Amino acid sequence: MTTPRIRADLHKIEQNTRTLVDRLSAVGIRVTGITKAALGSPGIGAAMLRGGASGLGDSRVPNLARLAASDTSSRRTLIRSPMLSQAACVVGVADVSLNTESVVLDALDRAAAGRNRRHGIVLMVELGDLREGIAPADVPEAARAVLRHPSLRLVGLGGNLACQHGVVPDDRNMGVLTGLVDAVEARHGMSLDVVSGGNSANLGWALTTGAVGRIDELRLGEAILLGLDPLHRTPISGLHTDAFTLTAEVIEVAVKPARPWGDRAQAAYGEPPARTGSGTVRQAILAMGQQDVELAGLQPPAGIEVLGMSSDHLVVDHGDHALAVGDEIDFGVGYGALVRAMTSPFVTTVEHSGPPVPTTDRAGAVHERRAG
Ligand SMILES: *Cc1c(COP(=O)(O)O)cnc(C)c1O
Repeated sequence: MTTPRIRADLHKIEQNTRTLVDRLSAVGIRVTGITKAALGSPGIGAAMLRGGASGLGDSRVPNLARLAASDTSSRRTLIRSPMLSQAACVVGVADVSLNTESVVLDALDRAAAGRNRRHGIVLMVELGDLREGIAPADVPEAARAVLRHPSLRLVGLGGNLACQHGVVPDDRNMGVLTGLVDAVEARHGMSLDVVSGGNSANLGWALTTGAVGRIDELRLGEAILLGLDPLHRTPISGLHTDAFTLTAEVIEVAVKPARPWGDRAQAAYGEPPARTGSGTVRQAILAMGQQDVELAGLQPPAGIEVLGMSSDHLVVDHGDHALAVGDEIDFGVGYGALVRAMTSPFVTTVEHSGPPVPTTDRAGAVHERRAG
């Protein structure tokens, strides 16, 4: 099989989804599975739906188009404000989009009318993280603007925290969203279907607060795919953190001096990594670099230490592991590494539902290359 390749365990993704869906349903919250880190993979989307997600969301129109081509029944949401230039495509691939701009609402209304359908709108509210969102005071008026458009439907309100400034979801900011939902419903004599509280960073709050309020949906990507709470990148109990494995191939093995020699300046990616110690290092080079993956969040197997990475070379100290040219090494990935690998044209994606062949567990994840 080609390397680098990233393997996605669909069974683990389904199980992670089910665990989160079960925990959240106890407090009246549904899950929209977010596929953007997996490029809108239909296989991964289907695993989320099997696990009980009530719909799927993605930030990119081409990813939603991929999902739409394989499944026409589940609700698809565009979770980034639509580009004005893409309004027509958006109403074609998404049932709902998250919005903040009135000029975009106008364009979506026209596009939906042209296709003889109604497009759902969730208005995003600024709750303090300073990314997308309408100021709370302006939300009732924005809701009125949506209601004036015949081909739009006001589906609900939403918020997004943590992504830009790490602002933590809590009773206060979520309470603002709940208050706005009540205000909009009272003012316009209607009830909203969706109150989308946020992303994986909301889980800790949702599962411990006694005050979920009107929040009835979360949009979950990282927690499902990697089993991590993004606020501190800590594992969430009961979830798989190894649904993805990135495999690279050894292209050079040599005992080298521990320290470089010669005058030194910048390396390919800025300051060179410090190489300390004396004597020699059992160094191996893998055919994988910045064009394939991000260094932060790349987790080597126990006993292998990453020494540095340039565009195409990952240099490791393989310690006591016996390694030969042609061997493969499996790495775990964090969110940034996952996104980079999934979006790299050089990395093959393999989706499977079961133990990998040949069997690799994370503890002994160095394995010999199979012929062919
Ligand atoms: C990426 C994103 C999500 C999902 O975030 P995770 O941390 O992966 O759960 C939800 N909502 C919006 C608006 C996003 O951009």
